Amino acid sequence: MTQTEPLLLILSSPSGAGKTTLTQRLLQEKGLGMTFSVSLTTRSPRPNEVDGQDYHFVDRETFIARRDAGELAEWAEVHGNLYGTATSEIDRAREADARALLFDVDYQGARQIKAKLPQAVGVFILPPSMSELRKRLEGRGTESPESLSRRFAKAQEEIEHYPFFDYLVLNDDLQKALAELKGIIHAELCRRPRLAPRAEALLRSE
Ligand code: ADP
Ligand code: 5GP
Repeated sequence: MTQTEPLLLILSSPSGAGKTTLTQRLLQEKGLGMTFSVSLTTRSPRPNEVDGQDYHFVDRETFIARRDAGELAEWAEVHGNLYGTATSEIDRAREADARALLFDVDYQGARQIKAKLPQAVGVFILPPSMSELRKRLEGRGTESPESLSRRFAKAQEEIEHYPFFDYLVLNDDLQKALAELKGIIHAELCRRPRLAPRAEALLRSE
């Protein structure tokens, strides 16, 4: 068990706003000490996705069995597929002394994580406009026309949940959005309760 709990950082957004891109950039910055919570999903892998790294790709039966066995900290149906976070992901980050654990989940997952772990910090990524969101979704080239329409149709509904989050990051410019996210992480890592034991140790020292 760590001296300090990992920062639990939830990233949510409508599909195509840039959450995966930003997550990957944060994970590449070794100095930040970020760990990714690898979710379970019943969705099929995209060509560039690696099982066990981007997601644990499972069939519906396996997902439901693991959910019913109480293995999931949260789960939701999103765009017709099941997604969930295994509680073991959180335990793993704690045992590994991770500085921060990043959850890429939808607003339903964000609410469930916050209900269980109120110290978690929620960040909602906003696209600059709905037309740019559509352009990004199309440009990614990963969705069938049906999936693309479904994801775009859900975007407004997802954005309605923005008041639940602690921070909003506008992803118009990737570098700017990344810098803002890093700013949030650094600030959250400096919150008084995290560093209070250090201050107390100084007070107890000679
Ligand atoms: P999400 O994970 O939120 O569904 P992605 O990270 O897959 O979104 O991004 C969707 C598409 O938009 C990708 O092709 C990505 O390269 C692109 N993208 C992400 N951020 C930006 C940005 N700031 N400007 C332009 N394109 C972006
Ligand atoms: P995608 O299929 O584009 O990877 O993800 C679709 C949506 O599912 C995104 O909003 C993403 O954040 C969400 N998602 C991914 N993993 C999880 C999870 O474990 N739980 C929940 N609730 N949502 C998830």
